[in-house]
Amino acid sequence: MYDIDLTSAISEIKRLKARIVALQVPEGLKKRAYQFAEDIEKNSSAEVLVVAEPCFGACDIPSSLFDMVDAVVNIGHSPIPSLKYGKPVIFVAARSKVPIVDQLKKSVGMLHEPVGVLATSQHLTQLDEVIEGLESMGIKTKISEGDSRISHAGEVLGCNFTAATALAKDVNSYLLIGSGSFHALGVHLSTGKKIVVLDPNLEEPREIDQIKDKMLRQRHAVIERAENARIFGIIVGEKIGQRRMRRAKELRKLLRWKRKDAALILMDKFDPEKLRSLPFDAYVSTACPRIAIDDVAMYDKPLLTPQELEIVLGVRDWENYTFDQMTEDEI
Ligand code: SF4
Repeated sequence: MYDIDLTSAISEIKRLKARIVALQVPEGLKKRAYQFAEDIEKNSSAEVLVVAEPCFGACDIPSSLFDMVDAVVNIGHSPIPSLKYGKPVIFVAARSKVPIVDQLKKSVGMLHEPVGVLATSQHLTQLDEVIEGLESMGIKTKISEGDSRISHAGEVLGCNFTAATALAKDVNSYLLIGSGSFHALGVHLSTGKKIVVLDPNLEEPREIDQIKDKMLRQRHAVIERAENARIFGIIVGEKIGQRRMRRAKELRKLLRWKRKDAALILMDKFDPEKLRSLPFDAYVSTACPRIAIDDVAMYDKPLLTPQELEIVLGVRDWENYTFDQMTEDEI
């Protein structure tokens, strides 16, 4: 399913004269971790430490690794150029090999041109094919660089839709290559524009209307449950690319202005168990924006995004509901 080429990572390990490297592999590729480690050890003089902790992105490289290794090899994620790490981090792309030509042809009637073209990290190499395919069918396309949290034109992260929002005035719809619905929902809510998803795991292109309605109902219910909360816990993520202390402090100020109590909480890997004994009525996550949305069913107490807290406190209207984003000036 995925092409993973370690050649340039191995050259970089040799150039750095790294003696020990940490290897981070996303959950979906962990079965191949031994193969990757063996490849690196056979072709360089470095010893490999396979990191068993889950890794969700370039935001998720534990600082503790830098005390133990000379470099980190991170497979399957794009770099976040605005992040600075303690030691070299070598990113190795995992590019999807699943053909999307048939879906692309089927999507044409669903699009309104000009079309903004987007992809998640695993599908960035398919962007050129999509642009060429659409243009050859006479459909105008546009693509944007996004801000400096984004490393490749057209890329969307679950925490950053700037490659889409930068085009919002210039396009009438978006085409997104990627699996799942989170990125598509984020783009749609940030821009108000129609979005068609080419999911290589499916056979047909799809729109997100039904999923959007279900997600919005869930979020409305969480917001309503938080309305009677008196004491809020504002969670700051420990992960290097999720530390939004300034945002957390702003939210606490806002809560105090609205005569609510609040404390800041530090958390690395999110786990409802860690919150169970704490005395808060509701929580706000300033860490990865996906957690509150994707894991909604796991939390007993309301877990809000910063924008949802603003709705609870009456400083944002429900009509302006949007997903949380981390931008270049925050981290
Ligand atoms: S913060 Fe979340 S969405 Fe953003 S890169 Fe990290 S894991 Fe992905």
